Amino acid sequence: MPIRKEITTVASAAMPFEEDWALRRCRYAPEQAPVGRLCIAAGIHGDEMMGQLICYEIAARILQEPDSLAGIVDLYPILNPMGLDQGRRRVPVGTPIDMNFCFPGRPDGTTLEVLCHALLHDMLGADLVLDVHASTQYKSELYEIRTNEADAERLIPKARALCPDLIWVYPEHAAYGRSLTSALCSAGTDALIVEADERRRKPQEIAGGIVSGVFCKMREMGLWRGAAREMPQGEIPIVRTREEICRVTCEAPGVYVPEDRIGQRVREGEILGSVIDALRGEVREAVLAPASGLVFSQRSYSAVYPGTLIARIRKEPV
Ligand SMILES: [Zn+2]
Repeated sequence: MPIRKEITTVASAAMPFEEDWALRRCRYAPEQAPVGRLCIAAGIHGDEMMGQLICYEIAARILQEPDSLAGIVDLYPILNPMGLDQGRRRVPVGTPIDMNFCFPGRPDGTTLEVLCHALLHDMLGADLVLDVHASTQYKSELYEIRTNEADAERLIPKARALCPDLIWVYPEHAAYGRSLTSALCSAGTDALIVEADERRRKPQEIAGGIVSGVFCKMREMGLWRGAAREMPQGEIPIVRTREEICRVTCEAPGVYVPEDRIGQRVREGEILGSVIDALRGEVREAVLAPASGLVFSQRSYSAVYPGTLIARIRKEPV
């Protein structure tokens, strides 16, 4: 095989009951001098599964066509192993902690801070890091690339080859500032958030679309010499300010039944879904689009309460 495949423990800590809390990396590298390095992180939130399949599919494609690999691909699929085991977003220790609020970490801090510090330093110097997240089971998302205001001008052009459905520029806020992506960018390594739809039926479709974007990007970076999808031709919708987003919530509690609007352009007043009351056989609320535009987040069939997020619409003139 003309490539090297190597699994390394980047950081670990001893745990009770003979478990260990280890962050592992699987590296795929060509035998010849690599032309660059791409890191793909996933599973920092243990309830987001889509990154598992995305990493698996990337590895499978590299192994199928090893001669095409010209650079290093480092996969870190399971960053919150205990959370993934239990299907929980946060690291399930004492008071559960969101690992993505713990960067850049510290070499002499708590166990989690030490692990985060080691992970960050293992990724520094890469040409690009993608941190894969996914919607929750109650929400669908388009395939989005997310960055923040400070890095937007530099990173938006680099996001194009990933072929996302939408690019979302976060306003500066404290929570983002403690994330892996933000810590990498602050330390001079380009990093982007990948947001995938966490669809449990036919996950291969969702993962396949994102993996084809990753290989398109790898080709652009010179890391991949094999076939890849074409660069996107048209304009990719970008959300740059809060004012461009219409955040739709419901007023009535009940059971929400969505219309399938994700990825569609709706007109103001069009129905997004209904809150129903099964006992009385009534519609408590028909949730209507307050503005015209592209629906990029959509609530799934689930219980809702007054103020529950139903949809996000990128406002567009009709
Ligand atoms: Zn996440």
